[in-house]
Amino acid sequence: MSSLDSFAAGKLARMEAHHLRRILVDSARDDGIWIIREGRRLLSFSCNDYLNLSQHPKVKAAAVAAIEAHGTGVGASRLVTGNHPLFAELEARLAKLKGTEAACVFGSGYLANTGIIPALMSSADLILLDELAHACIWSGAELSGAEVVGFRHNDVADAEKILADQRESFRHALIATDGVFSMDGDLAPLHDLAALAKKYNAWLMSDDAHGIGVVGGGRGSSFADGDKADVPLQMGTLSKAVGGYGGYLCASQPVIDLIKTRARTLIYSTGLPPATIAAAIAALDVIETDQDLINAPLLKARMFTQLLNLPYAVSPIVPIIIGDPEKTLRAQRLLEDEGFLVSAIRPPTVPKGTSRLRVTFTAAHPDTEITRLADALRTHVLNT
Ligand SMILES: *Cc1c(COP(=O)(O)O)cnc(C)c1O
Repeated sequence: MSSLDSFAAGKLARMEAHHLRRILVDSARDDGIWIIREGRRLLSFSCNDYLNLSQHPKVKAAAVAAIEAHGTGVGASRLVTGNHPLFAELEARLAKLKGTEAACVFGSGYLANTGIIPALMSSADLILLDELAHACIWSGAELSGAEVVGFRHNDVADAEKILADQRESFRHALIATDGVFSMDGDLAPLHDLAALAKKYNAWLMSDDAHGIGVVGGGRGSSFADGDKADVPLQMGTLSKAVGGYGGYLCASQPVIDLIKTRARTLIYSTGLPPATIAAAIAALDVIETDQDLINAPLLKARMFTQLLNLPYAVSPIVPIIIGDPEKTLRAQRLLEDEGFLVSAIRPPTVPKGTSRLRVTFTAAHPDTEITRLADALRTHVLNT
């Protein structure tokens, strides 16, 4: 065996021993919530397609029409010849939804975070991240070369302590957090973080991947409390409730102008295909007009948390913490035998000792199935 192959095989064997190896499983998804896996048809409580817009007739029709009209790709980076006119339309729509002057669309949420943060921050600067912030926020922060410090989850006092100790030694400071936490479903205290940022002349960035379309009347976590939190950098993705693919930043005009000339993941990566942009625009049409649809995932999650006496859901994501990765995998398999797909989430996606079932709800989940899932969890997993 070559040293490369024995390196790979050795790493895999160690992961296997700790039940931490991950494998890709074919998962055909035809109507949105039902998934065919290894010949079995399972009801998925693991998709982020909260509004089922990936299957919406108008969204699909917009994508098909854009392929017919413009082809399958834009052929270059947006800064060269890939800036299809549909981008401007989508960016105007996103800026309006988020209440900002401007927006910039990236290839994905991951590309957005790893482009935005290094375009704004460098080695003379300080970045504070919630310890549970998404992996790609950490990657963006590390790429920037700035000093990166984690603060305890949603603990504004802990973040303040770091700023009081260290802010003076750095030129600029950025506080970044998920708006809705992807693996826990709770919300960041954006109003308090905004006040903290103001006090220490820091910039606040929220990652609203799981907020747009499902909280704050569809406008996202900055709007979750009714009045808008002062978040000058609202980042997010088009790949969850919006039902397609792509990332974005909504911010002021000067910030967006800077990002469009400096973010490496925008400059050195091809623009999204026209069909993807057209689909996102059609999805925003639905999000802006169908309040009942927008409210549905959260109402379903609340029904579920009430059935199991879990903390009241504030987003469509409900974690059931089990702790041990092997036990969590076993719970996933037991639920599969009942016809449900609820993915086990293990380290390093979540901290050690907090392996969990992550249950997500979409507008299309039938209430009877939610009740059946709660019953199955009570019988096989929660032992209550
Ligand atoms: C999914 C996710 C991303 C990445 O978005 P993609 O468009 O899938 O690359 C970024 N941040 C958070 C919080 C996410 O949950």
